[in-house]
Amino acid sequence: MHASHTSGEPGGPYDALVVGGGVIGLVTAWRAARRGLRTAVADPAPGGGAAEVAAGMLAAVTELHYGEQTLLALNLASARRYPEFVAELEEASGQDVGYRACGTLAVAFDPDDRAQLRELHDFQRRLGLESHWLTGRECRRLEPMLAPGVRGGLRVDGDHQVDPRRLTAALLTACERAGVVFHRARAERLTRTADRATGVELADGTRLTAGRTVLAAGSLSGRLAGVPPEALPPVRPVKGQVLRLRVPPAYAPFLSRTVRAQVRGGHVYLVPRESGELVVGATSEELGWDTTVTAGGVYELLRDAHELVPGITELPLVETRAGLRPGSPDNAPLLGPSALPGLLMATGHYRNGVLLTPVTGDVMAEVLTSGELPEEARPFSPRRFPATRTDVPPATPVPQEQPV
Ligand SMILES: Cc1cc2nc3c(=O)[nH]c(=O)nc-3n(C[C@H](O)[C@H](O)[C@H](O)COP(=O)(O)OP(=O)(O)OC[C@H]3O[C@@H](n4cnc5c(N)ncnc54)[C@H](O)[C@@H]3O)c2cc1C
Repeated sequence: MHASHTSGEPGGPYDALVVGGGVIGLVTAWRAARRGLRTAVADPAPGGGAAEVAAGMLAAVTELHYGEQTLLALNLASARRYPEFVAELEEASGQDVGYRACGTLAVAFDPDDRAQLRELHDFQRRLGLESHWLTGRECRRLEPMLAPGVRGGLRVDGDHQVDPRRLTAALLTACERAGVVFHRARAERLTRTADRATGVELADGTRLTAGRTVLAAGSLSGRLAGVPPEALPPVRPVKGQVLRLRVPPAYAPFLSRTVRAQVRGGHVYLVPRESGELVVGATSEELGWDTTVTAGGVYELLRDAHELVPGITELPLVETRAGLRPGSPDNAPLLGPSALPGLLMATGHYRNGVLLTPVTGDVMAEVLTSGELPEEARPFSPRRFPATRTDVPPATPVPQEQPV
């Protein structure tokens, strides 16, 4: 259903109030408004967040980790929904989101990397996932820019990509068109009665009231004042630095699919967009809310990417950025009702938030309208964590992202 209404009063009451307008908050708000809920988003800068930096790999199979099979099921469910989700969003927003069904090639250089990739391949096949082993020569035939030292690789035809900046821009427009009300201010604290969340107070003192409040504030989700300890999500920031290069038309097609590798134990990937942008990522650093781009981070990314595809040193370097992944203790998201009635979570998506966007929107819209968490999301209930704060550092000023 398309809702064209807005709430009568600027401060609500709303059916659903979403704190945080990153990719996860926006998809939640859009899907909720489409179900006919009076919906609002509070965020000083909606449409920004980690998706400004993210590579946009939809890598359910190549990012498979041992012990994460439950998350794999959710990742695959979301990947399957992507084509339909993109079609719906592009129609609702009138904007192209840069979805590219190009597949991924994961390669290995030395015997250790090759053995690890072989193990991953066996694991993928045991789980019934589609993935093909290629020799080094076959890899280079697919991607001629690869270094001669590549010894083998996995071709995964189902791991695609989307442009996260375009995705959030389209979600913002789709929300506005569906009647979502935007409050461009920071939520200062959760308001509540003795036993129920009732909304938030904004930094300028405005009070917003809502039947249900959704905490979707990314890596800051554990920091909202007024949330009782038993409901605080154990989410922490995990810094990632990323480079953006440009492939001049004379060099195209430089790469035809996402290429990734493990180099000296670190992971590097190159994501080529149809626009000519080439994203090189990413570091993974536990440094609190620091978003400084460092010489060391840029050096390591360029060094590893150069080992994988030597020709990249010819390309213009157009941007360096750092963003914060909202990490959770088991690397999986927190979806649905918290320990405090009226307060729900849509956070902790860590390195898969872009991939998990479609399924998160569906799950959150369902729980907001029916009160029931769908079967596929039950393993991701926020209540799976004990009711304590985790290793979230004490309050310090939060530095802004620093484009260089
Ligand atoms: C380097 C890097 C590479 C990545 N690559 C990929 C990838 O290839 N594929 C993939 O699927 N995922 C990737 N990710 C992960 C993905 O970007 C995140 O999981 C996702 O963007 C998280 O979205 P979010 O909306 O939960 O949080 P965020 O994007 O952090 O958004 C949170 C929003 O909440 C707002 N906010 C915070 N506090 C408050 C408050 N008190 N009041 C109001 N608003 C508030 C902020 O302003 C922000 O807009 C990557 C991330 C990084 C950093």
